[in-house]
Amino acid sequence: MPPLSCRSLNCAIGDPLGIRLFPRRFQGFMVTHVLLIEHEERLTLIDAGLSVAELENPSLLGAFARALRFRPEPERAAIHQIRALGYDPAQVTDIVLTHLDLDHAGGLVDFPDARVHVHPQELAAARARRTFGEKLRYRPHQWEKALWVEATAETTELSPGVEAIQLEGVADGGVYLVPLFGHTRGHSGVWIRNGDSPVLHCGDAYYDHSERTLRPSLIFELFKRSVHVEPRLAKESLARLDLYTAAVPALRVISTHDPSELEGAYPTSSTPPR
Ligand SMILES: [Zn+2]
Repeated sequence: MPPLSCRSLNCAIGDPLGIRLFPRRFQGFMVTHVLLIEHEERLTLIDAGLSVAELENPSLLGAFARALRFRPEPERAAIHQIRALGYDPAQVTDIVLTHLDLDHAGGLVDFPDARVHVHPQELAAARARRTFGEKLRYRPHQWEKALWVEATAETTELSPGVEAIQLEGVADGGVYLVPLFGHTRGHSGVWIRNGDSPVLHCGDAYYDHSERTLRPSLIFELFKRSVHVEPRLAKESLARLDLYTAAVPALRVISTHDPSELEGAYPTSSTPPR
């Protein structure tokens, strides 16, 4: 299979309250890193960011998002960026989500005809909304009309030590879900088997790449405990990323919200904080 074209889009910028408490970790703002895969006239999105309506009026996202302070920049919606690149949004046949948090699933409503893939455990968790926190972070109207493709929970070995679920028919079989549970109950990375340049979009497995190497301060540890549904699992998932990069040295690992990983994003990735 020839390499896929894999483009970074920055689909929302937020200026979260309190981000300056962590000067070693963040650049003062957060991005929303969505990938656009182009394959034989068909487009696949990895994560969906926010919708046009939510980017016009971020207060639609409710109380949980208020502290994230998304900038009202509708031009960042994936559908607008896809049009600006010269595509027809109807070419988006598939959307693969790392998880269903409101800042990852909002854009689904702009692509009502796309097939949508997520780990089955995540869809079950979002539908159940078992805890108060899950009632706030999941916004059912974003995804209840989505055209779900039932994925199996069974994994196969993608590379030695890398267990993954192949998504049938997505970008010619080159896209996989890699369970990285913890941030949410079914949170998963999305692995793109792209010739010699595989990519792992690991969603919110970490917020800043320094989490992979730097010991957390107490306050940062408290922050992580507040954002992960299952902190112990999230810690294990984070550690597993190192095993993946050891097994596949060419692997490029990216996350959703770290501005430093957005090189080459369209439009300009690193808009300075206000
Ligand atoms: Zn997120």
